[in-house]
Amino acid sequence: MVEEVHKASCLCGNIEIEASGTPNYTKYCHCQMCQKSYGSSFMVWVIFDKEKVHVKKGEIAKYQSSKSLARGFCANCGSNVSIHTDKCFDLPLGALENPDNIKIDYHIWTKRALNHVNLDDNLPKYHEDQHD
Ligand SMILES: [Zn+2]
Ligand SMILES: [Zn+2]
Repeated sequence: MVEEVHKASCLCGNIEIEASGTPNYTKYCHCQMCQKSYGSSFMVWVIFDKEKVHVKKGEIAKYQSSKSLARGFCANCGSNVSIHTDKCFDLPLGALENPDNIKIDYHIWTKRALNHVNLDDNLPKYHEDQHD
């Protein structure tokens, strides 16, 4: 069986990323850092083991937004392209070539969700991180 491949890129195309296999999980994140970092109400993250993800083109600039987590972006176009932790490499759903192929598993940080965001779906919801 051929392993599925997920391609991602930034707005200008300088950065290209490829992840292989099924994502570990996917989540809406309503935390304030994602809101600030992306200028949006929430983010959707697709999480892979970091060994499964390879930068095919370009170089990811990084901002260490907390002790254990760095946010990656393209220094040319400013697109956010990744989150880096000890074990994982997360891709933003919107950077993927085929975002509609991905099913979202759950919501985290719903206590920070903005009023206009409709949380009326059947997905599990966590007030903070999923390990609460
Ligand atoms: Zn770019
Ligand atoms: Zn977040």
